Amino acid sequence: MNVKPVIAIHGGAGTIVRHAMNTDVEARYHAALAEILSAGERVLAEGGSALDAVTEAVRLLEDCPLFNAGHGAVFTAAGTHELDASVMDGATLDAGAISCVTRVKNPVLAARRVLDVSDHVMFTAAGAEAFAREQGLEFVEPSYYYTEARYEQWLKARGTSRTMLDHDAATFAFASSNAPSEDDPIDPIKKFGTVGAVALDAHGHLAAATSTGGITNKQAGRVGDAPLIGAGCYANDATCAVSTTGTGEMFIRMLAAYDVSAQMEYCGVSLEQASNDVVMNKLPRIEGRGGLVAVDAKGNVVLPFNTEGMYRGYARVGEAPVTAIYR
Ligand code: ASP
Repeated sequence: MNVKPVIAIHGGAGTIVRHAMNTDVEARYHAALAEILSAGERVLAEGGSALDAVTEAVRLLEDCPLFNAGHGAVFTAAGTHELDASVMDGATLDAGAISCVTRVKNPVLAARRVLDVSDHVMFTAAGAEAFAREQGLEFVEPSYYYTEARYEQWLKARGTSRTMLDHDAATFAFASSNAPSEDDPIDPIKKFGTVGAVALDAHGHLAAATSTGGITNKQAGRVGDAPLIGAGCYANDATCAVSTTGTGEMFIRMLAAYDVSAQMEYCGVSLEQASNDVVMNKLPRIEGRGGLVAVDAKGNVVLPFNTEGMYRGYARVGEAPVTAIYR
């Protein structure tokens, strides 16, 4: 098969009001996205698998404090961090996921170990940490996940019954400029985070990975769509690979990632038609907000979202990465 390998990533969607960002902050996001895309592209260019490319891209997104996963994860109502991640191989339909971990440095690496070595698909909380420890993965103190911007978000939400979806780029702008939060033009409820990657490799295989800190002020023990195969992550060589971000509960109820694949498989529609239907039509019916990145076996890439912005980008092997924030 003569397809050009490609990787696409997202770093969360939400209400990103242009005047709330300053050019420095925007440039930081573009640079981070481009750098991570280039790393994924390198894996693919060297003949690496789509699975390795998405794992590496999501690991780097987790390490980057701009995004709500790993370092930079949001706070729960209890003031803690609980992280979720998943990965799926479209060639074999193997999958791995972990949820509610509090000490694993890179949740996506734990999910990947589940895929690689376990008979199970998903571990949660203490069991997930025990598995990660057995696998020799790196552990961190909970303070590793802390960033000032996420802490400020949590202070705003704390004591209210509401949860906040991250990704609030403006919080970074304001946190770094110390501007008064009362002037925040961003509705703090409209915030999304989560990171994800999808890829097609030189062998025609697809893979997807997703990782998140969840939503700010979430109840302890709450699990969103990100670690749920079919909701926040799905890959099947016969159709597509999908990673989502948004209001997790609605993505779970809609089986959003799998629905894209199922529409392609059962209705014979294109990747673009299927993902637009899920993001622009089906999710809004239940007030689902967010977006996804997806790639099919022909190398078509789509990055639809029904919010004002989504941190996103893609890179085809041998070409410069393309990154975007707004519509
Ligand atoms: N989908 C994630 C969750 O519900 C949140 C997000 O995308 O920001 O946990």
